[in-house]
This record gives sequence, structure tokens and C-alpha cells, in this order.
Amino acid sequence: MTTHKGNSETEKITVSTNGEEGGYNKVEIWDREATAAMAKNYREIITLLGEDPEREGLENTPVRVAKAMQFLMQGYNHNPAEIIKSAMFKEDYKQMVIVKDIELYSMCEHHMLPFFGKAHVAYIPNGYITGLSKLARVTDAFARRMQVQERLTMQIRDCIQETLQPLGVAVVIEAQHMCMQIRGVQKQHSVTTTSAFTGCFLKNLQTREEFIHLIGSTLH
Ligand SMILES: [Zn+2]
Repeated sequence: MTTHKGNSETEKITVSTNGEEGGYNKVEIWDREATAAMAKNYREIITLLGEDPEREGLENTPVRVAKAMQFLMQGYNHNPAEIIKSAMFKEDYKQMVIVKDIELYSMCEHHMLPFFGKAHVAYIPNGYITGLSKLARVTDAFARRMQVQERLTMQIRDCIQETLQPLGVAVVIEAQHMCMQIRGVQKQHSVTTTSAFTGCFLKNLQTREEFIHLIGSTLH
């Protein structure tokens, strides 16, 4: 369900998904006050960078950037554990469940520049499974914040472990960091890979190798 609320001077857009995919509320809001306050600051930043925020092309840029930043940081509005709990099903299946190549867009907390790539998420159920899309949504809920790739990897792992309590969780993230590509060392093609495991992925080499093999065709 999409609801647009607003009038000529305020723009408050609420996108609400309820029930269709498992009964949790996904709400995106551009907060009017936050947008105005951020826009004021972005106007100043533009000036400090030596540009004229009043010129035609930049006139609405501060507001656009403020809204874009709220979109990119929307993870703070989401509760990842609730996303999984909204679609937990009792099931005897005890084989590996893998969702690979989950598109990932996040924001490096040191430079506020994007890092992006793929996440591969697996778990071995122990009585409960969750909707496959929920693994992607949990990835998004943690990624759309100020992050470092290492912590992001562990947060996804821990969230799945704590909610589903499976026999094991595996998360691998491969990402390119704009802060390395366009500034600093300026390495255009480097890919950072991080991984985090629990349970049988940690204890059982064979299980871990099976996972790596199954996602292997996509790894760099
Ligand atoms: Zn950075």
C-alpha cells in the first residue's frame, strides 16, 4: 500500500507495506523538519565548497540531498529481528538454505561514501525457517545505515542466529568502496570480502566448504 500525504508546502511521503509479505510494517518517511534542517546545512556545505547554492541548477539540491540521505539511511527505521519474526515457520528441513547475490548498498561511516556489492547469506534450520525475501530485507535493514563492512557482516549473522536459532549461519559480503576508488589510494578494482559464521559453519569444515563452493561461482 502506498500513501502519499502532503500539500504544497509539506512533503511527507509514507510508503507502507502491511501484510502482503508477512505482516510487518515497512514505513519510509521523509521527515519534514529533518529535511529542512539538513537542507540548511547542505546549503552551507555547498557554499563552503565554493559554489553558489542560489544558482539555478543547485537551487533545490540541498532538499534533494537531504531526502536522498534519509533514503540511504532508512535502515534506522527498520527492526531487522522483527522482519524475520514476521515470517517464521515451523519446518523440519535441515539442509542448507542459501540466498546468494543479494544486492547490497551501504554507506561507509568514515567518509559517508557508498560501498556496494553482494551479500551471500545461508543458514541450516533447526525447527524454523523464514521467508527467503526476509534474508534480503534483513541485509538491507542493516546496510542502509552508517556502516563498516565488517560490522555489517556480523550484524546480519547475529540477527539470523538470535531469531531463528538455526544450526548455523554463514554470511559473506563482497563490496567495492567508493572511498577507496575515488579518493585515498584510488584503487578502482579492489573488492573487499568479509565473512562471518556460527554453529556448524564454524565447527564443520565440510559444511563451510559446501557453502563456499555453492557461492563460489560468484566470488571474485
Ligand atoms: Zn570509507
